[in-house]
Amino acid sequence: MKNLRSLPSVDALLGTSLGESHLDTYGHNLTVQAIRETLGEARSANLEREAQIPGQDELLADIGRKLHVWASPTLYPVINASGVILHTNLGRAPLSVDALNAIRDVGGQYSTLEFDMEKGTRGSRLEHANEMLTRLLDAEAALVVNNNASAVLLMLKALASGYKVVIARSQLIEIGGGFRIPDVMLQSGAELTEVGTTNRVHLRDYEQTFDVETTAVLRAHRSNFAIVGFTTEPELKEIAQVAHNQGLYVFDDLGSGALLDTAKYGLEHEPMVQESLAEGADLVCFSGDKLLGGPQAGIIVGRGDLIERLKNHPLARAIRADKMALAALSATLLHYLKGEAEEKIPLWQMIAAQPEEIRHRAEAWREALGRGEVVETQSTVGGGSLPGESLPTFALTFRVSHPQALLAGLRTSSPGVSRSPAVIGRIQDERVTLDPRTVLLHQEKDLLKTLESVLGTQ
Ligand SMILES: *Cc1c(COP(=O)(O)O)cnc(C)c1O
Repeated sequence: MKNLRSLPSVDALLGTSLGESHLDTYGHNLTVQAIRETLGEARSANLEREAQIPGQDELLADIGRKLHVWASPTLYPVINASGVILHTNLGRAPLSVDALNAIRDVGGQYSTLEFDMEKGTRGSRLEHANEMLTRLLDAEAALVVNNNASAVLLMLKALASGYKVVIARSQLIEIGGGFRIPDVMLQSGAELTEVGTTNRVHLRDYEQTFDVETTAVLRAHRSNFAIVGFTTEPELKEIAQVAHNQGLYVFDDLGSGALLDTAKYGLEHEPMVQESLAEGADLVCFSGDKLLGGPQAGIIVGRGDLIERLKNHPLARAIRADKMALAALSATLLHYLKGEAEEKIPLWQMIAAQPEEIRHRAEAWREALGRGEVVETQSTVGGGSLPGESLPTFALTFRVSHPQALLAGLRTSSPGVSRSPAVIGRIQDERVTLDPRTVLLHQEKDLLKTLESVLGTQ
């Protein structure tokens, strides 16, 4: 058994050529930490289990592995071949090239974030994107906050705290990540008043519930589930009418808030922001990174006097939008204003992609790999929109004895020094299924690289 004294010193390891290259790549502190930890582990393994003292090469390899892991961000890009377009766990909407450029421009330099260029004095970050939003949606005013969950909270807190807010029982939703309407209501200080039954709510249910303590009606979009069968619900227009008769506000939490008509693509019609405003909602809120196809943001549009009160509420400061999100949002909105959303926003390109064109891509992948089988299947929109709806697609599939193992292999391909990009697929009919619809064109080469290396080991 080698003696502990044969362990090299920190300085000796730093002096090797690999040690020097680690110093170069990772800096002094991190490299020394990795060396100390590695030496410490070797020492205790030797003392506790009489393990062999590793040689210098072995130690250096271990140090290299540690440094690589420590310096790797846990947030990194993946290839989404799941066929779920707005995959919440994979970051929802990928941004357009213009939106990315806007982030780089504003993030890497000083900007007009809170500066009035005409007067040369302090300006307001709450103004960015508002002009575009009001023009696009024909709304009186707009406000952008951190995300839609905070938009709902702000509306209720600033305008309904201490009062009753009426909502249909069928709309007491929970969406992913623990956002529950009753909990948000509680946080806001508004008192939840449920009306109707799970499947049916009538206009008279609303009317009978309104009293002097009521201040608003909230409608929440059933983003991620559907109620089918014996159901009824008044239209927003009707609700707005009876609410306004009593001097109550109408808030509409649309969740996804489509700006284009999803029915054009063979999907169910997802409620549109423009419709909500036209039907009489006083305030409408929706996400920036769902069907809008932009960055994370919560967008509130509607009555100018109410938006003004939201802007002046202290909570608005706590949930303000980040400058890079505002830059990307403006660039995304410009695509809609110019009528080029379908060509420029990845989300709409994916929704609009034709099955034939997807089949060609899947077939090209199969040709390149010499493996797999192209089958007809379905993509979904996901991300809290269009539950139960799907788009016809063609996917490259692999029938293997352990599909879960292949899926895991694609996620964690060649860990260690050179990570080839992770691929997220799904299992359908016991086959590993890869849908080109959600794979960006510039990712195809990487996808094939990962597939080749992982399939080769199967
Ligand atoms: C998604 C969603 C939210 C939350 O939006 P985030 O942007 O994720 O904060 C709120 N309400 C509804 C109806 C939703 O679908």
